[in-house]
Amino acid sequence: MASDFPSWLHKKLPPVGKMIATEEILNRYDLHTICESAMCPNQGECLAAGTATFLILGDRCTRNCRFCAVTKGVPLPPDPGEPEKLARVAAALELRHVVITSVTRDDLPDGGAGHFAGTIQAVRRLLPEAAIEVLTPDFKGLAQSIETVVTANPDVFNHNIETVQRLYAVVRPEADYRRSLDLLSYVKEKAPGIYTKSGLMVGLGESFGEVAAVMGDLRHAGCDVLTIGQYLRPSPRHLAIRRFVPPEEFDAFKERAMQIGFLHVESGPLVRSSYHAQELWYYCDHQH
Ligand code: SF4
Repeated sequence: MASDFPSWLHKKLPPVGKMIATEEILNRYDLHTICESAMCPNQGECLAAGTATFLILGDRCTRNCRFCAVTKGVPLPPDPGEPEKLARVAAALELRHVVITSVTRDDLPDGGAGHFAGTIQAVRRLLPEAAIEVLTPDFKGLAQSIETVVTANPDVFNHNIETVQRLYAVVRPEADYRRSLDLLSYVKEKAPGIYTKSGLMVGLGESFGEVAAVMGDLRHAGCDVLTIGQYLRPSPRHLAIRRFVPPEEFDAFKERAMQIGFLHVESGPLVRSSYHAQELWYYCDHQH
């Protein structure tokens, strides 16, 4: 990580042995992880802990978010064998919490919802005890697609709001703030037992008040869990970092979020949406 970053963004390297073993299993089955595609700063730590967030439906995205390192372009057709393959890898890694995400597939009529559902079912068959978390795109707001995923009954349904409403046109030009909130409301309304989760990045020029407004909107949509982390620019082609937000401000975000009723909040410079997902799930599940 660049040495001109503030000290709170420096990270110790995790034990390499376990990291390589996990990577080998992933490569053997030719699976993608968002950890790698999005150049996540916690990649080493997660791999060393024997976990990864699986990226289904290919590694090419049909959208062009200005903060995201995932490759953009025309995707390949979905691999029908992927759900089974992923389930086998999750079993080989002995995961207790499986996180599944995808690129956005606006080219598919259902946005890939059926593939998500098939993957959830395949993991359930092989790992009935594991908790399953999905991190989905917005499916263009299609109720039927959201319903397809809800019906497959994941334990956690995550959809990231990513940034404050004012910055949507710059940060997520093909997304819609209200549509993302509506997705979360819809999930909660259809399946109150599924934990809903969302996350956003800071350091893109937003104010504390704007972040607080997003938190309020998410709570209004019934969102249970929140993650907040520092935006890091993947390359000079991506949006510039406007500010390094100090750790105390992340603490203040967390305090505000807990005050307005989130069940759990992870807020810190290196927090990403699946960071400590397993611990976070355990915490939620044992509150009830
Ligand atoms: S839709 Fe998701 S994967 Fe695609 S560019 Fe945006 S953030 Fe990246």
